[in-house]
Amino acid sequence: MENIIDTICAKADEASIRQAGQILKRGGLVAFPTETVYGLGADALNEDAAAKIYAAKGRPSDNPLIVHITERKMLDGIVSEVSPQAELLMEKFWPGPMTLIFRKSEQVPYETTGGLDTVAVRMPSHPVARRLIQEAGLPIAAPSANLSGRPSPTSASHVEEDLNGRIDMILDGGDVQIGLESTIIDVTGDAPVILRPGFISREDVEALMGSCTLDPAIVGKPDPNLRPKAPGMKYRHYAPQADMLIVEGDPDFVTRTICAKAAKDLAEGKKVAVLCTEESRAAYGDLSCHTVGTRGNEETIAHNLFRCLREFDEEKVDMIYSESFREGTLGGAIMNRLLKAAGYHVLQQIGGAHGSLS
Ligand code: AMP
Ligand code: MG
Repeated sequence: MENIIDTICAKADEASIRQAGQILKRGGLVAFPTETVYGLGADALNEDAAAKIYAAKGRPSDNPLIVHITERKMLDGIVSEVSPQAELLMEKFWPGPMTLIFRKSEQVPYETTGGLDTVAVRMPSHPVARRLIQEAGLPIAAPSANLSGRPSPTSASHVEEDLNGRIDMILDGGDVQIGLESTIIDVTGDAPVILRPGFISREDVEALMGSCTLDPAIVGKPDPNLRPKAPGMKYRHYAPQADMLIVEGDPDFVTRTICAKAAKDLAEGKKVAVLCTEESRAAYGDLSCHTVGTRGNEETIAHNLFRCLREFDEEKVDMIYSESFREGTLGGAIMNRLLKAAGYHVLQQIGGAHGSLS
């Protein structure tokens, strides 16, 4: 039988951060808040500790971890080279929601990098994350603190739902700010390539670097024959248990289509839910709606998306209909998660304003 650990759940005050630092030094697992989502931390330089992360999350061993640091000095120990473009990006966006891919130094075990010769590194800005890393005095490997495949956790209660009994400690620092994982940028080649979209957008990077491309796997449905650069991209992700369909087109087409489909499902005895915004809520009448935010402020949609996806599981719905959220600088990052959650199941208005998916 699997070992059940007595998980300590504590408010992230000074005393509990010190205790968490000791746990990390001893090779244990601590979940903690960052500005993006909650992370599941372990000593990045200890192969046994890194291996425990994969076991606790049920994560495939070839899906590498992001290493979290608090100062530039810590970077020099874990990477073998830093390109001028990486310097520019770090100067502008660290600390913050940006992860960079470097060639790794010998110090970093392959358990942390999922067998790759590169390592992903981020410097978080969240005060609890920073205090914890300083307290441990180590680079901390920390993927999102959810069971593999589930939506990333944006509050300590989400972490508890997934990992209670599987990890040593959960530091509760309240709700995270951003709610989407970091932007991942590969800076090992000639020009920066975004491997995962996030709060820092392609436009932000282009404004600084002149050019920046998106990895093809972000834009459309992943090709099963292509080996993705960010190995996490190939796995099913964020998926609620119910089937999910994204409906795209003019606002009127979207609400009419969703209402008609939902009425048919309800007549068949299915439990249906809708993911919509404050602007469109009234158009769905009596349907069970989860309002993810407002189109007037796309940051609210990013902030609430993963929480809404978890709520569908709690309510045990059979079918989810969602609006699409391509607009604005965060649209790409939000749709990247939503498309994965829906298994790329999209209905588009014929001749609508929205382009094809790939
Ligand atoms: P998570 O922290 O759960 O959001 O997962 C970390 C993500 O970072 C995974 O999807 C990985 O694919 C990506 N990642 C980590 N290390 C590397 C690397 N060396 N090269 C490319 N992608 C990476
Ligand atoms: Mg994750």
